[in-house]
Amino acid sequence: MYGEIIASGTELLMGEIQDTNSSWLAARLPEFGIEVRKVTLIGDDPELYEEVLKRSWENNSYTFTTGGLGPTKDDVTREVVASVLGEKTYVDSAQLDHLKNIFIARGNEMPETNIKQAWLIPSAKAIPNRMGTAPGWWVRKDKRVIVALPGPPREIQGMWSEQVSKLLLETKEGNVIMTKTLKTIGLSEGAVDEMASPVLAIDNPYVGIYAKPDGIHIRIISRATNQNSANRMLEEVDRQLMSIFKDYVWGTDEETAEESVGRLLNDLGLTLATMESCTGGLLADSITNVSGSSKYYKGGVVSYTNDAKIASGVPTDLISKYGAISQEVAKAMAEAIRLTLNADIGVGITGVAGPNPMEGKAPGTVYIGISKQTSNESYYHRFPSSSRSLVKNRATVMALLQLRDTIHRK
Ligand code: ATP
Ligand code: MG
Repeated sequence: MYGEIIASGTELLMGEIQDTNSSWLAARLPEFGIEVRKVTLIGDDPELYEEVLKRSWENNSYTFTTGGLGPTKDDVTREVVASVLGEKTYVDSAQLDHLKNIFIARGNEMPETNIKQAWLIPSAKAIPNRMGTAPGWWVRKDKRVIVALPGPPREIQGMWSEQVSKLLLETKEGNVIMTKTLKTIGLSEGAVDEMASPVLAIDNPYVGIYAKPDGIHIRIISRATNQNSANRMLEEVDRQLMSIFKDYVWGTDEETAEESVGRLLNDLGLTLATMESCTGGLLADSITNVSGSSKYYKGGVVSYTNDAKIASGVPTDLISKYGAISQEVAKAMAEAIRLTLNADIGVGITGVAGPNPMEGKAPGTVYIGISKQTSNESYYHRFPSSSRSLVKNRATVMALLQLRDTIHRK
């Protein structure tokens, strides 16, 4: 079954806000057997909107719209859907009461303009929206569906999990597609390919191998006529792959390296401190993107210059003897911050973000030091150096995964 997404809103075309709703929706449709063939961005222009929606209605089983459900004159989605289907809008009394109650609860009277948020057409039913005033529309006619959703991402996401996904399951025909991604580190793409060869030969589920900044990803895609059998097939291959790769898989699907490490530190009750040079605080930033990180992350220092490194406890003679970009200094940074902050583990990063070489070391050269009470280790990496932010990103992810590996080996 084919689907199309139409995102409306003039501010999307002005580059003021990014259309994140379309990709969010597109990522969720395959599991309902809906193949997205087109995404259109349009302004709040009723004539153009009508033209685009009419074509989508003719060509697809499903059309999803976002935006244009507000109370103002330029919110035209309801008018456009009614016109394309040749139906008349009416004020639904249950919706109107609901809307009035929202305003009463906020201590306001409902403005006249909001009445249109209580509109329906004969083929539509309202999709409740707990986070806003605008209900969505679920429109079903001639075996085809239009799902009209509001603009704010939070509202869409709430309505999706509470309402829309259930409605889609009820109407679904044809194939369901389920996917799962296993994220590995420590193996080359070729090695993963070879080790996975028993499952690579199977057509369904399909297994694909992709090199990413955070390691090699193995993606399983299974298709079946219903969710249960798609799931069963996926789990079977998942089990096979996990028995082959269990020592290398650090996370699945959307999980990030910082979440994976955070979970591990939390479970083991260990604390962490960081000292960064070339990553400029990106490691600390990533770690603290995880909620609850204060449980295990004590803090860190950005010691960018040699003076800053020395002031943070790195011995001067080590820097003069080996240079600031060296295994020895990476280890010393990790140890110094571990001792200063009285943490269980310290991480130090020093390297060359580029584009020019430093201390005779090529851009992309990075040393990661990891210090524990029982040992100090360091690792050398050479990342592609096409941009400073790329080197910083790769070094950060690698430090997190190396840290995870060290903790695992204990
Ligand atoms: P409202 O009742 O808030 O006006 P609406 O359904 O009319 O909702 P819009 O007015 O089109 O929706 O958008 C409201 C806000 O939602 C925008 O200012 C923007 O912040 C966000 N938004 C709209 N469309 C998108 C989109 N495609 N991707 C991400 N955010 C969006
Ligand atoms: Mg609006």
